[in-house]
Amino acid sequence: MTHFNPITLVSHKHYLEHDTGGGEHPEVPERLLAISEQLKKSPLCPVLVEVDAREPERQDVLAFHDESYLYRFEETALSGKTYLGHPDNQICFDSYQIALLSAGGGITGIDLLENNNADLVFCLVRPPGHHAESSLPLGFCFFNNAVIAAKYWQKKYEREKIVIIDWDAHHGNGIQAAFEEDPSVLYISIHEHPTFSFPGTGHAEDNGMGPGTGTTLNVPLRPGSDDTVFLQAMERLVEPALADFRPDRIIVSAGFDGHIKDDMSGLSYSTDLYEVIGRKMAAWASQYCQGKLLSILEGGYHLESLAESVERYLQGMAQTTQG
Ligand SMILES: [Zn+2]
Repeated sequence: MTHFNPITLVSHKHYLEHDTGGGEHPEVPERLLAISEQLKKSPLCPVLVEVDAREPERQDVLAFHDESYLYRFEETALSGKTYLGHPDNQICFDSYQIALLSAGGGITGIDLLENNNADLVFCLVRPPGHHAESSLPLGFCFFNNAVIAAKYWQKKYEREKIVIIDWDAHHGNGIQAAFEEDPSVLYISIHEHPTFSFPGTGHAEDNGMGPGTGTTLNVPLRPGSDDTVFLQAMERLVEPALADFRPDRIIVSAGFDGHIKDDMSGLSYSTDLYEVIGRKMAAWASQYCQGKLLSILEGGYHLESLAESVERYLQGMAQTTQG
């Protein structure tokens, strides 16, 4: 009989109220609802612990974002405008508060991990974060949830060396921008090649700048890349980078839009792959971080595949750590 270790899901009902206008927009509340429904009928259900995300302190958000950007975002939302900066970034009246609460997911998870109230945390949040830059919303992202989490972990708990492993189909330009000159955070992104994919960044030769040279690892994959290509990249490039860096803590930017059925990318991952990834992330957490693992939802837009892939990812991580 399969045994699963507990997983804490950090989420909030207000995440469903970030309204991207209906119609064509892919980043919709139904994403979280589909995942919740899937998990309710999953064998994992008995080991899932649900915790509400709390709002971050303003200083936690300002650790990365410009204050003028916070004002601009808040004013734009409250004025009734329907997008911020670019029509991709649809907002509603409450989106500023909800985006703050989304950034609070990682922070809530870190407190649980560090106070020994959890080992495996998955933040079921929206809006996503990895494209957001310090004063620029991009690709449905407003606040960079992973960057804010990494900075909080360093500042509050003095976990010096953080790795962010981002296997969303798209390059996390915002995470790279935050840490490309910072040797204390290793950013690893495996994504569809920027020639073919939004946002057009993340070339293999971009490996950091100044003191941060060598602590950015971009692994662009050709369209059509499948599980085998992904796992080879993990083995050949990601594992050695982790072994060199020896992180104190791991953050996973968990995007599921590389799935073959997800038309937001040309990647061809199967649902099965996500279980393998879950096992790997948990194994690395055991190896380097006393089993502590924080994952934050990024993309994933094909509702059925998203829900199934999240379930399999969680199954993989919960199995691995049973020892
Ligand atoms: Zn994506």
